[in-house]
Amino acid sequence: MGDMIESRVALVTGAAQGIGAAVATRLAANGFAVVINHHSASSEERARELAEMLTRDHGVETMAAQCDVADFEAVKEMVAAIKERFGRIDVLVNNAGITRDGLLMRMKDDQFESVIDTNLGGAFNCMRHVVPLMVKARYGRIVNISSVVGVYGNAGQVNYAASKAGLIGMTKSAAKELGARGITVNAVAPGFIETAMTAELDETASGALTSRIAAGRLGAPEDVANAVAFLAGDEASYVTAQVLGVDGGISL
Ligand code: NAP
Repeated sequence: MGDMIESRVALVTGAAQGIGAAVATRLAANGFAVVINHHSASSEERARELAEMLTRDHGVETMAAQCDVADFEAVKEMVAAIKERFGRIDVLVNNAGITRDGLLMRMKDDQFESVIDTNLGGAFNCMRHVVPLMVKARYGRIVNISSVVGVYGNAGQVNYAASKAGLIGMTKSAAKELGARGITVNAVAPGFIETAMTAELDETASGALTSRIAAGRLGAPEDVANAVAFLAGDEASYVTAQVLGVDGGISL
């Protein structure tokens, strides 16, 4: 139990499923205590079960934390609760994200705003409240989950692309502000990863997509988790302000 208290603590947003769950699992396997953030009521049980499983399988402390990352005050309360429980947050993985796709000419303002508020505003809110703890500790690892769509753009996703491109600018700026304080800030830009977010693609579309991926296959959540685990680790102390593509060599 003594070791548990000494563990580094990681907060992973949107971690009840998909890429976030894979990241939480990989970090737990690496010995991190993990906070599994989730939002909707429907994901509460999944978050709790994942937390219990990670404690059982890896002997690490875990905590499930319900919170809408788009809500500044709610994030403040979540961070306070984590501080109360663990006293620290060493790693922040801003993974929570949504899509509300549609063509520009038909896109409603709330379609645009909800995606920006969650994907970009959510990362800001978490960084805003977590960074003071990291500055005090003179240590931190922040990993923002962007997307190849934020780098290359994608028809039907101006809202999503804007949020993910915004995350890259935010990552590089925060890296410059925080570098001298022992805090690294990097982005991971996944390509096409098989999760609920991409489940709607039919076989023809997914076949066409695969033909544009050098690796010849779609990605798995674990592929992203491996990259995040590197950036979240002590060994990545001189890697900051980077955008690491995890996309199998996709060309969009
Ligand atoms: P997913 O399975 O849909 O998971 C997204 C997670 O985000 C859900 O667990 C959801 O939790 C959470 N979330 C949504 N809104 C939230 C909010 N306001 N507050 C807190 N949590 C919230 O999608 P995924 O594919 O794993 O995506 C994870 C991240 O990777 C996203 O940022 C996505 O944009 C990015 N990404 C994915 C791909 C891909 O191909 N899959 C590619 C590039 C980038 P609730 O269910 O509780 O709402």
